[in-house]
Amino acid sequence: MTNAVNASMPFQNRFAQLPPQLFSEVLPTAVSNPQWIKFNEALATELGLDVALLNTPDAVGIFSGNAIPEAAKPLAMTYAGHQFGHWVPQLGDGRAVLLGDLQDTHGQYREIQLKGAGVTPYSRNGDGRAWLGPVLREYIVSEAMSALGVPTTRALAAVLTGDEVRREGAMPGAIITRVAKSHVRVGTFQYFIARNDLPAIEALMQHMINTCYPQLKDASNPAAALFSEVIGTQADLVAQWQSVGFIHGVMNTDNMAISGETIDYGPCAFLDEYDPKKVFSSIDQMGRYAYANQPAAAQWNLSNFAQALLPFIDDDKEVALTNAQALLDEFPQRYQAAYAQRMLAKIGISEQLSDDIELLTELLDLLAESKADFTLTFSHLTSLMPSAPKATIDTNQYYQPPGSLQAWVGKWQQRLEQLNTSSAQQLALMQQSNPALIPRNHRIEACIQSAVENNFEPFNDLVEALQQPYSPSERYEYLAQPPNEREVVTKTFCGT
Ligand code: AMP
Ligand code: MG
Repeated sequence: MTNAVNASMPFQNRFAQLPPQLFSEVLPTAVSNPQWIKFNEALATELGLDVALLNTPDAVGIFSGNAIPEAAKPLAMTYAGHQFGHWVPQLGDGRAVLLGDLQDTHGQYREIQLKGAGVTPYSRNGDGRAWLGPVLREYIVSEAMSALGVPTTRALAAVLTGDEVRREGAMPGAIITRVAKSHVRVGTFQYFIARNDLPAIEALMQHMINTCYPQLKDASNPAAALFSEVIGTQADLVAQWQSVGFIHGVMNTDNMAISGETIDYGPCAFLDEYDPKKVFSSIDQMGRYAYANQPAAAQWNLSNFAQALLPFIDDDKEVALTNAQALLDEFPQRYQAAYAQRMLAKIGISEQLSDDIELLTELLDLLAESKADFTLTFSHLTSLMPSAPKATIDTNQYYQPPGSLQAWVGKWQQRLEQLNTSSAQQLALMQQSNPALIPRNHRIEACIQSAVENNFEPFNDLVEALQQPYSPSERYEYLAQPPNEREVVTKTFCGT
């Protein structure tokens, strides 16, 4: 690696300065023939990285773990977690290596991690690797979420390793470079409270405040303040998921980031037809993480986060418990408020009246009954606005509004007339809240299929199209279409 490349990645390694029990120092395992799949220039620029130096054949070594920047202090994080409700006392980064952190151009702390970088002390029986499919899926979906405005980890790079990984057969190995404000999870806190390691919890708490919640620096009770803040970020995060029809699929406590970013894209998927009971993940047989259960799952995870903070909320155990419970009890209202705001924006309503939730519920009920496409229905409603311009994407060829929608539209239009906002303002709100494009499962599957056959064009097109989900160009018309009967994806696999 040249001196210039080294100098261009000034890692600060603030996680590596925390108490040693929080991580294990570990180097990525070299791969045999790294090849570029994609480098995210826009994100690199935001991170203050030198695109001209990094988007080069030589730099592929950095993003495959073959070359370690001088300033990096690679490590794997320790954590535990509840998986589908069952306590697993020891998990940790089993195939991810944190290179270090950088300050981005906004002054925000950002961590750079290689996922699929080889075995670590936490790999258990795993090979520490990832195959191409989940790497592309995470790249597509995390970048799409970001463009949709949903807090998320990002994808800086994807590379092929040149090695095969054994899954259902031999698959091409790949590595994704993930960027997060912080990779600390609810499960990170759980690991240390289960061992009664209070110094570790205190260090984690301080670290989270320093890196993600600087507004809490002078809080009189940092633990309670942090808990309340995380309740708020999670309430809003899940409300945003619901509003775009995103199903995470594995909301285990080890897959919930304290930063409020969506993390760990496994068997995630977007709704095509609206169905509140929808589950895609093949491992979620009980529907624990179904679309409609996501808010409750978040609340359950937050109750586990609270457990770890109790000793710092108050010295008196009873008082700590009462205070934490009172904060947790606010979650349903805080979530409802965020959900109402995000969902009503989709129908042009910015000032909520008492009947508006009923209006919304009626709409969702009729969508569920008629199995209407979630995304296309809201695009259709947007197109009904009196001042709506002709859409660049004409969905009429493949979207038929359910017959039952007509009566509802009448009521909705009456309601819009009562608002203090102009029709142009209502339209603008709807346009900002209703994506024309989402990463549909059948498209992601098709991209993966092509990529396995060494054609990355569909992947590149999908990533490009999803950078403008609210106002896509005409040439991406085909990506707005829902799957036909043959294309529909009913199950997604963790596919680790
Ligand atoms: P996930 O289901 O991806 O959230 O992962 C759960 C746990 O399994 C985490 O501790 C991961 O690091 C670990 N893990 C997943 N896949 C692998 C793998 N191929 N090799 C080693 N560890 C893995
Ligand atoms: Mg995970």
